[in-house]
Amino acid sequence: MKCWQAADLVIQLSSSSKTKPDVLDFGTVFTDHMLTIEWSVTEGWQAPLIKPFGNLSLHPACSSLHYGIQLFEGLKAYRGDDNRLRLFRPMLNMNRMANSAKRACLPAFDQSELLECIRRLVEIDQDWVPYSGSASLYIRPTFISTEPSLGVKKPTRALLYVILSPAGSYFNNDSEAISLWADPKYTRAWKGGTGDCKMGGNYGCALFAQYEAVDYGCQQVLWLYGEDQQITEAGTMNIFLHWINEDGEEEVATPPLDGIILPGITRQSILELTRKWGEFKVTERYLTMDQLCSALKQQRVKEMFGSGTACMICPIGHILYQGENLHIPHQDKNSHLTSQIAKELTDIQYGRTSSDWTYLV
Ligand code: PMP
Repeated sequence: MKCWQAADLVIQLSSSSKTKPDVLDFGTVFTDHMLTIEWSVTEGWQAPLIKPFGNLSLHPACSSLHYGIQLFEGLKAYRGDDNRLRLFRPMLNMNRMANSAKRACLPAFDQSELLECIRRLVEIDQDWVPYSGSASLYIRPTFISTEPSLGVKKPTRALLYVILSPAGSYFNNDSEAISLWADPKYTRAWKGGTGDCKMGGNYGCALFAQYEAVDYGCQQVLWLYGEDQQITEAGTMNIFLHWINEDGEEEVATPPLDGIILPGITRQSILELTRKWGEFKVTERYLTMDQLCSALKQQRVKEMFGSGTACMICPIGHILYQGENLHIPHQDKNSHLTSQIAKELTDIQYGRTSSDWTYLV
């Protein structure tokens, strides 16, 4: 089926601009415009539309509301020291979105055309990209079924839309290591499921465990999987372990993309970056709680960290597991991996280092 083209974009500008707040709580404030693109099985894709930000009007039977037939993405626009706006590896988000759409039985779209529409949207709302080396404009593409019936079936109508929200840092204090709660009683994703897709249901289902983690005095859940309690993800981040492995080698390891891990763009970038450095072994491998506990006892753990667009890289300080609060070394004198990675990635995102990982707006 023919997809829309960015060249057909219709633009309706807002007559006024909202006041931009100083304090940026993640995802609470939105810019002046949004992008919407409608699809139906009979008429195909309509022309993309940029219009003033506003509410959607949905049929109450809409199957995204009843059965969670929907998905989203998350990426950021950064204002560089040169005042130019850059996106970070946005085609990887577009491709991940297309994969999620396939799994959700939502229609295919042209990833490059969507990226060009997003570029135009950010360009129109460019004043909303914070003038700051630590803040950015969060871009939230969303794709929902608008099927107006209660049948559990492949949607015949859908809406793809993109909203923008200025963002400071996701966690309250960037530099502080976070605490995780690890308990095998909850599972984020499973083989054959949708853990490798960015579907809302994965996140809604995780909330209950997240609040139990908070009840235990921790900030996020360390998601375990299987009888051997594999370490999979931390909250909504991929996870990395920097350690001396069982064979005495210095290694940076993260679980493999076997279907239960969200293929993070930050994860992929960290793997590519550290492999290029060639300073230690970089591996996609299974890691279990037993392996972590014995490495901690033998003082083989250098650090652990989560990675994601929202926080970039987030050191892990403690893991509460089987009633014991495991201390994870972080940011000591011998271990500056997280700050080194964060510096290289932010230098690229804010245009201090030129790279083909950036996409100019
Ligand atoms: N895991 C999960 C479950 C996530 O929601 C995210 C955020 N998209 C990530 C990992 C990190 O992915 P990315 O680096 O693309 O932001």
